[in-house]
Amino acid sequence: MTSPAAPTEPLLAVDALRVAFPGGRQAPPVRAVDGVAFTVGRGETVCLVGESGCGKSLTALACLGLVPEPGVIEPGSRVVFEGADLLALPEARRRALRGNRLSLVFQEPMTALNPVLTVGAQVAEVVRVHARASRREAWARAVAMLERVGVGDAATRARQYPHELSGGLRQRVLIAMALVMGPALLIADEPTTALDVTIQAQVLDLLRTLRQDTGMALLLITHDLGVVAEMADRVVVMYAGRVVEEGPVAALFAAPAHPYTRGLLAAMPRVDTPDAPLAAIPGSVPAPGRWPSGCPFRDRCAHAVARCAAEAPALHTVGAAHRARCHLVAPGGA
Ligand code: SF4
Repeated sequence: MTSPAAPTEPLLAVDALRVAFPGGRQAPPVRAVDGVAFTVGRGETVCLVGESGCGKSLTALACLGLVPEPGVIEPGSRVVFEGADLLALPEARRRALRGNRLSLVFQEPMTALNPVLTVGAQVAEVVRVHARASRREAWARAVAMLERVGVGDAATRARQYPHELSGGLRQRVLIAMALVMGPALLIADEPTTALDVTIQAQVLDLLRTLRQDTGMALLLITHDLGVVAEMADRVVVMYAGRVVEEGPVAALFAAPAHPYTRGLLAAMPRVDTPDAPLAAIPGSVPAPGRWPSGCPFRDRCAHAVARCAAEAPALHTVGAAHRARCHLVAPGGA
């Protein structure tokens, strides 16, 4: 049994998380996630933000022990959920938690669903795996959950196959699968990216409502700061496999401290000035193994100084529960 965490402890505490891939012929391993640490409190929504390739999806997978081969989670990494280190548990125990206390929704509803099973059977299967339920009970819970996530005429829809449903309905089915066991934490990786704008808004509304109704916590992985502004209590910004800034959403939007966060915000379309040109961050996220020495953002940073090449910056406190990894905000400055 997993020992329940004391209410004052975070629900999820990730610490010193490192993921590496073999470097190829005689080369050293390449680290794609490098010492990531953050927490998610009970009932809290934390958004993990950054451009593609910054390591946020891999971080989410590593939290569940699902790093794609040949990647490995390095020793010393810790992912403590409800008081137990998930990375130290046998895979069978982790599997028993996944889909039950801890659930995951991916961005591609078509590939995540089994094309040869009805959607009702797929939701019911989750119940059968995790609860001692008869087929009839599991089916009833599946239909009720589909209805709860806004699948109209759920009893009929439950008998349909994934290809018979729209992208928006398929995403609701995945959310139903993730939530049918009443998880304490839902990890959602770009859950609305593949959907059109109207459906995106509906799915985000649904997640917000379910979170309020059930008290579950949400770790939302997104590159979209518009989604962050709407959903987050706290934000964790990642760049080149590291956390570069974290803080409460209002503080981070009002006073972003890291040049990368400022660049992401400047590149965000604004409702009040929709025609204003957007300032894109120059260049792109370097692949793991090609990160520059010192601060990995320095090739793209307009504020880089000599120290940025020589020394990797530490996380510095810049406000209440607000920290940034940049020499410019170090006590005494760069
Ligand atoms: Fe830019 Fe230097 Fe700060 Fe890195 S440490 S973000 S290069 S100013």
